[in-house]
Amino acid sequence: MHVLVIGGAGYIGSHVVKALLKNNIQVSVYDNLSTGNRINYFPKASYIEEDILDIPQLEKAMSNHVDAVIHLAAKKAVGESMEKPEIYALNNTCGAINILNAMVKYGVKNLIFSSSAAVYGIPEYVPMDEKHPIKPISFYGFTKSDMEKYFAWYDQLKGIKYVSLRYFNAVGYDEDGDVKGLDKNPQNLLPILMETAVGKRNKMFIFGKDYETRDGTCIRDYIHVSDLADAHVKAVNYLQQGGESQLINLGTEVGISVLEMVKRCEELLHRKINFDFAPRRPGDPPVLLASAKKAKDILNWKASQASHIDNIILSTWNVYNLK
Ligand code: UDP
Repeated sequence: MHVLVIGGAGYIGSHVVKALLKNNIQVSVYDNLSTGNRINYFPKASYIEEDILDIPQLEKAMSNHVDAVIHLAAKKAVGESMEKPEIYALNNTCGAINILNAMVKYGVKNLIFSSSAAVYGIPEYVPMDEKHPIKPISFYGFTKSDMEKYFAWYDQLKGIKYVSLRYFNAVGYDEDGDVKGLDKNPQNLLPILMETAVGKRNKMFIFGKDYETRDGTCIRDYIHVSDLADAHVKAVNYLQQGGESQLINLGTEVGISVLEMVKRCEELLHRKINFDFAPRRPGDPPVLLASAKKAKDILNWKASQASHIDNIILSTWNVYNLK
């Protein structure tokens, strides 16, 4: 089997590449290196350094006997998406449509897509299953939910089967140290926490302290990226064996608040994390918590011990503390 991993030099993508190679799957990576990093390259994979907005290059990659596509090349910062929607429309929406059209042209039928819990918006109930209403409150979440609608049409009209994996919060690093690329301009909690712990930042900010949660800060479901990566391998195999299209949550079913994450970092790293409270960040729901039952039922996947909060923090620290 030959899988084209678009965005395979990035943080989640390189963990996915590692998991595919471990399962003896042939991998080509297509990445523009905007956030991806050559330090994450695996000798057994081949790499095409091009952009998804470059249709001729994308079609060239797609024409090379591809069995399935895993698409992870997208902008991912909720806050930024509210300030610069045009960048998100271009990369996340136009880019994904280019991929769909290239798949149609070259007869590639199977697609794994990195979607997000951000499609749900403010929870009407928790844990959130896949039937939860789709009402994104960030432009980022909108780009993901919008693409899921395109996929349903391309399935109906062109027979493209897809598994849209709705990630909750992807965190942690490969336990063997094979992925080392750091986010160059981090906007997510864990990298910012680490940069504060190593002294690269004087302080960090916790966005919002008056949410209706147990300590007033936002609650998220943090899932280790290696667990996420394993789900992609299962999803590819599921489609290759003739599975129907699916929308599937990937989470741990455990909620951790921002303040709890900061405190646990201080305890485990034996460092003081300097922080202040700041206003709420636009686009942030108070709670995101997965029901992962469907992932278990359809893919036989569930989060492992890797996704325990201590392992998340320590595996990330191993990478950040090297620099
Ligand atoms: N967060 C924070 N300070 C930061 C970055 C993030 O308080 O510097 C909070 C953010 O408001 C959210 C949680 O941490 O409640 C997780 O945010 P992240 O950007 O990591 O992921 P998201 O949930 O937006 O996908």
